[in-house]
Amino acid sequence: MRTRSAPKPAAEPRRVTILGSTGSVGRSTVDLLDRHPDRFAIEALTAHSRVDELIAQCRRLKPRFAAIGNPGCYDALKRGLSGTGIEVGAGPAAVAEAAGRPADWVMAAIVGAAGLAPTLAAVRAGAVVALANKECLVCAGSVMMAEVKACGATLLPVDSEHNAIFQVFDFDRADAVERIILTASGGPFRCLDRSAMARVTPAQAVAHPNWSMGAKISVDSATMMNKGLEVIEAFHLFPVGEERIEVVIHPQSVVHSLVAYVDGSVLAQLGSPDMRTPIAYALGWPARMPAPAPRLDLAALGTLTFERPDAERFPALRLAREALQAGGGAPTILNAANEVAVAGFLAGRLGFLDIASVVDEVLQMLPSPQVTSLDDVLALDGEARRRADAAMRLLAPSAAGMA
Ligand code: NAD
Ligand code: MG
Repeated sequence: MRTRSAPKPAAEPRRVTILGSTGSVGRSTVDLLDRHPDRFAIEALTAHSRVDELIAQCRRLKPRFAAIGNPGCYDALKRGLSGTGIEVGAGPAAVAEAAGRPADWVMAAIVGAAGLAPTLAAVRAGAVVALANKECLVCAGSVMMAEVKACGATLLPVDSEHNAIFQVFDFDRADAVERIILTASGGPFRCLDRSAMARVTPAQAVAHPNWSMGAKISVDSATMMNKGLEVIEAFHLFPVGEERIEVVIHPQSVVHSLVAYVDGSVLAQLGSPDMRTPIAYALGWPARMPAPAPRLDLAALGTLTFERPDAERFPALRLAREALQAGGGAPTILNAANEVAVAGFLAGRLGFLDIASVVDEVLQMLPSPQVTSLDDVLALDGEARRRADAAMRLLAPSAAGMA
């Protein structure tokens, strides 16, 4: 994926596209672009339904193309950008078109498997793809990595843990790496017992103690499925086996992850919990560019703590690891069932603990065939979603009083 002989930075202004520009990662990317108007020219921006925000971003950043995923927002987008000369489109095909337009750098920041086809379109165009959308690698890891190789694309991890590992992993001496260690904050319910967890509300689950993020990843952090998805993500991004990917709880979210070498050295990347640092690393790569994240004051922090994850209270982490070990389409099933269950929880249809139960049930219900193409992935993803929906309907009546 990367060697020490990284390419020279592309000539400026570099042409960039943001998929999911109105989300949490998307906005942080826009914030960085706003600070360097001479260094970047914008090819395309996409969003799903926040049409007013997309219009405002377009008026400021002046992309050549703007796409809105929800076709019902097409007229509003067209009206809002009339007279600007910005081309507009709507629907999944327009989002994929935005992704595949020639660009030096594409931020993949759509949430969930909805981002898979557009991210693949950017990969197929041979772009440098800054990957925030971890679900792509979870549901279609081997398909995606094969396309990256075949198309000469470059994947730069933006997820803070993977970005940290990317920064300290010696790709020229991968055999000297003993293990990689992903840190996890433990989320808002790190200290709750299971009976208290059964009663938590969506509002409590999305209130992450350290990071400000979109709703889905916030719930994933609360169940610790996020860390499970990240183990799978790390497996595809770095040349280490599943058994050499560890997870440690680090509630302060200052050490973003670590790489342990055979001589006992452990290298880590630290920073304040602000996504603009890993995004800037990917945006400036292979050079570094300034980012406005608050600076670390270690003396003021005083103490950094670490503890082992509790597999009993957070079964999602175990489920993800088992899916990775099972191989084939099991991670695709895990991801799809989790997306449905998280949406159900956020809609008040499911209790918090039921999220992992639904995922577990669907994983047990479905065999995990090999997935070797996008069509295979999409078919299995669809089937797992139907099964998850059915499992949720059976659970929902008991959860109704909890939400
Ligand atoms: P978010 O919910 O804030 O934003 C999601 C973006 O995707 C929005 O722009 C939305 O318009 C777009 N989108 C949603 N559904 C879509 C669809 N069907 N078609 C097209 N576009 C669609 O999410 P986020 O927190 O920015 O996370 C984005 C991705 O980055 C996720 O995969 C998440 O796991 C990952 N990530 C986020 C953070 C973070 O700090 N927020 C950190 C690491 C990784
Ligand atoms: Mg992360």
